[in-house]
Amino acid sequence: MTSPWELDRDALGQLLAEQPRYRIDQVWRGLYDQGLLPSEISTLPATLRDQLDQSLSPALKLVTQAVSDDELTLKSLWHLSGDTAIETVLMHYPSRSTVCISSQAGCAMGCGFCATGQAGYQRNLTVGEILEQVVTARNAAKPRRLSNVVFMGMGEPFANYDRVMQATRRIIHDLGIGARKVTISTVGLIPQMRRFAEEDLQVGLAVSLHAANDELRTTLVPINKRNPIGELVEAANLVRQRTGRRVSFEWAMIDGVNDRDSDARELAVIARKAQAHVNLIPLNPTPGWPTVGSPEVRVREFAALLDELGVNATIRRNRGNEIDAACGQLRANHEPTPVQLATKRAQAR
Ligand code: SAH
Ligand code: SF4
Repeated sequence: MTSPWELDRDALGQLLAEQPRYRIDQVWRGLYDQGLLPSEISTLPATLRDQLDQSLSPALKLVTQAVSDDELTLKSLWHLSGDTAIETVLMHYPSRSTVCISSQAGCAMGCGFCATGQAGYQRNLTVGEILEQVVTARNAAKPRRLSNVVFMGMGEPFANYDRVMQATRRIIHDLGIGARKVTISTVGLIPQMRRFAEEDLQVGLAVSLHAANDELRTTLVPINKRNPIGELVEAANLVRQRTGRRVSFEWAMIDGVNDRDSDARELAVIARKAQAHVNLIPLNPTPGWPTVGSPEVRVREFAALLDELGVNATIRRNRGNEIDAACGQLRANHEPTPVQLATKRAQAR
């Protein structure tokens, strides 16, 4: 079975080759403008709906949803084929609504502080699975308009490069989200960053830096061994030159590990070299990592020091903490998360 959103316009035309053109338009508008399943497109004859139902069905099966932050954050847990699960988080802000989507089930990059990394890698998501997360979030956001998409859920987008780029193009063209409203977050895979620079896309790129010297960064982000900071800065500059957009550096603030004044000074040097903006996020606690996030006051001091050193820094508030929904970092402190429960249930079957 294929996700209805796996097919691009040409593939849909081929599937419906026997149908008059206006029928194909009807199906396309139903799927992409209205976010309907083929069986819900009431303007289609029943026979055509049945025909479509036989070859297309949703890839994401809802396991559970949780709301928090006065209903401004909605986390959805989806079951996927291959007995795996992913999470999608919809966040409403006064001026925008953002969905945080997953690009892989699990992740192979092994960052120790990350709940997804601790759980290991299952598989790459398909283009349809990625698009479906956006379509369902757009439906759930109503009557608000889904305005932004960030690839900051589970997985490393650049380890699933071709599908993520194809999905990104289709999020822009077929779902009508502005390219500048899409952000891909990468752990910093340099060959893919260089490729991304040549994609001719206005999409934003966030690089998860977390440490500004190779020794510390390698302990936090093991792929730093093959993707060292010096080359990372060069790649970030290439992205800025080719796309016209500065990259941002993500910095999860870890108490006593990367939140000292010396860290801010090192970071400032690198951020200036890359002309990057810095996003500070206090680390979310995860059961598999001993260290906790920096206290709020330290986060503010760190931001102020960066500012003094001529670097633009923003403090990002963690969203959905009480439902473990900080974008892919979803493990509970004391209880298994829905992902773990679903996995247990699947194993018990
Ligand atoms: N794999 C990509 C995108 C998914 S992770 C990447 O690493 O960039 C999205 C962001 O969440 C990354 O910046 C990541 O470093 C950060 N992150 C991971 N675990 C976290 C935690 N426990 N607390 C805060 N941020 C975390
Ligand atoms: Fe993977 Fe990103 Fe988590 Fe690292 S932080 S393990 S790259 S999802």
